[in-house]
Amino acid sequence: MDLKKINELIDLDYVQKTLLELVSIPSVNPPQDQGEEKAARYLARKLEELGAEAHVDQVSPGRANAVGILGGTQGPTLVFNGHLDVVPADEGLWDTPPFQPEIKDGRIYGRGTTDMKGGIAAMLGAIKVVNDLGIPLRGRVVASFVCDEEAANLGTLDFLERYPKADYAIVGEPTGLVLAVAHRGVARFRIVVARPGRPCRPACLRGKRHRTHESSNLCPPGLPPVAPSQKAPPAAFAKLRGHHGPSRREGQRHSRSSRNHH
Ligand SMILES: [Zn+2]
Repeated sequence: MDLKKINELIDLDYVQKTLLELVSIPSVNPPQDQGEEKAARYLARKLEELGAEAHVDQVSPGRANAVGILGGTQGPTLVFNGHLDVVPADEGLWDTPPFQPEIKDGRIYGRGTTDMKGGIAAMLGAIKVVNDLGIPLRGRVVASFVCDEEAANLGTLDFLERYPKADYAIVGEPTGLVLAVAHRGVARFRIVVARPGRPCRPACLRGKRHRTHESSNLCPPGLPPVAPSQKAPPAAFAKLRGHHGPSRREGQRHSRSSRNHH
C-alpha cells in the first residue's frame, strides 16, 4: 500500500478532535497542578478505545504516564513516545486563550499543539488506521505518553524502569517535518556553592604572587574592599562542587527552576 493511499485512510476528524481535547487539558510544567495526570488519564482512555492494554502509571502525586500496549509478545517492539506536559503560557502574549484551542485558516492555535500534543494525536491516528484496516501486528506497539519532559524527565525514567527495552522508537517532537534519525541527548548540570564566597578585587585574578587562601586559592585575605570609584566590579570566589544529573530526587526538587525548550 502506498503512502498516498494510507493518507486517505487516516481519520483526520479523529486526530483533530483528539488534539483539541488534549490541548484543552492544561498540563503545564512547571508548575505541576494535576494537569499531567488528567492528560494521562484522558490518553489511557483513548488507548483503551483502540484496543490497547492501557495503563496509568503514577509517577508522583498529580503526575502520571499513559502507556498502551498493542500486539502480541512475539516480534520486535516499536515505541511511540510523546510528552504530556507543556511549558507555561503567558496569556498576555496570546491572541487566543492558550488552553481553548481554536481552528483558524487551517491551523489549530493552542499551547502544546505543536510541542507536542500534535505528535501524540498523530500517533493515535496511526494506531487507529491500522485498527480500522484490521492489519495484524507482527510485533508490539507500545505507546508511551510521559510527564515531565519539560523539566527533569521523571516520566521517561519511570517508563524505562517499568517496561522492557524496545527495538525501535518514534519520538513526536516537532522537527519541521524533517526526519531526524538520532538525538544527542540531554545533560543538565547543577552547581552547589559549598561555602560562602569572599569578595575580591579583579586585580587578584591577574596576580601571581598572592599566597594561597583556603577559600579561593587565588585571593589573599585582608585586602580592602573595592571602592565604587574604581568601577571594576568585585568578583566572588567560593568552593564549587558540580555533578550532572538529574537523579530522581534532585529532579523533583529542582524541576520548578529547570526548563528546556522542548
Ligand atoms: Zn517537546
